[in-house]
Amino acid sequence: MYTFVNRDESSSVYGAVAELLVARGDWRCLPRDSARFHLMLGERNKLPFGRLGHEPGLVQLVNYYRGSGSICRKTSMVKTVQSASSAEGSDPFRWMPLSFIVCPTRFLAENDEKAARGRLGLKPRRKDERSEFRTAASDGKGGVWIAKASAGAKGEDILISSDCESLLEFVDRGKQSHVIQKYIEDPLLLTGNRKFDMRMWVLLDHQYSIWMFKQGVLRTSSDPYNPGDLQDLTSHLTNHCLQEAHSANYGKYEEGNEMFFPEFNRFLETEHSTTLDSAVLPQVRTVIRHCLEAIRESISTSGLDYCSFQLFGFDFMLDTQLKVWLIEVNGAPACARKLLPDLAAGIVDIAISPLFPPTADEEVGKSGTAGNIRDAFEKL
Ligand code: ADP
Ligand code: MG
Ligand code: MG
Ligand code: MG
Repeated sequence: MYTFVNRDESSSVYGAVAELLVARGDWRCLPRDSARFHLMLGERNKLPFGRLGHEPGLVQLVNYYRGSGSICRKTSMVKTVQSASSAEGSDPFRWMPLSFIVCPTRFLAENDEKAARGRLGLKPRRKDERSEFRTAASDGKGGVWIAKASAGAKGEDILISSDCESLLEFVDRGKQSHVIQKYIEDPLLLTGNRKFDMRMWVLLDHQYSIWMFKQGVLRTSSDPYNPGDLQDLTSHLTNHCLQEAHSANYGKYEEGNEMFFPEFNRFLETEHSTTLDSAVLPQVRTVIRHCLEAIRESISTSGLDYCSFQLFGFDFMLDTQLKVWLIEVNGAPACARKLLPDLAAGIVDIAISPLFPPTADEEVGKSGTAGNIRDAFEKL
């Protein structure tokens, strides 16, 4: 019998995974603070990594990689992508919109004070690229920018503006560092001139193999794109919750403002004479590989006394040239309801079962993972 603890009751993905494990018949769920278990389905923040790997004779697996915040927080992602690309000697902004990290002025002042008194310890000075941003915003690269709080989510703590000083003031009023990023002014638009972003789920297994879930989803806006009014949030921000709360047309074009790949592919065929496979997915694969390779050395668990896997949500935008841009990476993504059964079955089959294979022959198949669930994923 294998055992697991589920420390994140709010995750629908890991709720579904837990159900599949129990249904398999050779897994038992233990109270969340148990010491001996095979698998920890941990909390997204403040996961107790320190408790793992101390049980003699037990291989322990956890559903997060320690340090994955280096691509899952917005400022860290910018730093990671910048330094990885400069190490490679390639154009840093091939697939990430030009971005600057800006820290609220009052934190910089505090930081300087501490440094002057020698109280900073080993903490690095906070990064602030506001002067680089001012330069970029005033030369040929003016235009529209978007400021986003580093740990922001759900489209909150965002300002879209073409005025450099308003953007910096917005950051200064905030409680954390922000990314100020080139706004994609020419997004590919769906029928009804509507903007969207595209979510792909990516599973990183304990051997650091990358598995891309083949089905993605577009989160669509239900109001027409309105470049003339940057405050028209439902035309510019495609976040689900924001559309649901503020667009009178929520659900008018697609149920729940979600468009799945088969329909998007038909749209690409009819309106742009191309396909996801030929125009979009090759770019998506490149971005995913680059990002996860960039942090491999710092997060890999090889040599540690426990193993990790993690599900990531990669969010992209497409422009009118069908160029793919990376917008953000989520370290604890939710999943569209329609895709959840396959995604959860894939997590069990790809990330959990190789370390903890089904113990009784008759159990194989009970969980519904015996089919070729791996076909729902592509190994990158
Ligand atoms: P959050 O964590 O709040 O979802 P995102 O970075 O995903 O933050 O931004 C929210 C939304 O804003 C995206 O879904 C997208 O619609 C829009 N957006 C974000 N960055 C850009 C950009 N550089 N250009 C155009 N639109 C953007
Ligand atoms: Mg987010
Ligand atoms: Mg987002
Ligand atoms: Mg509106």
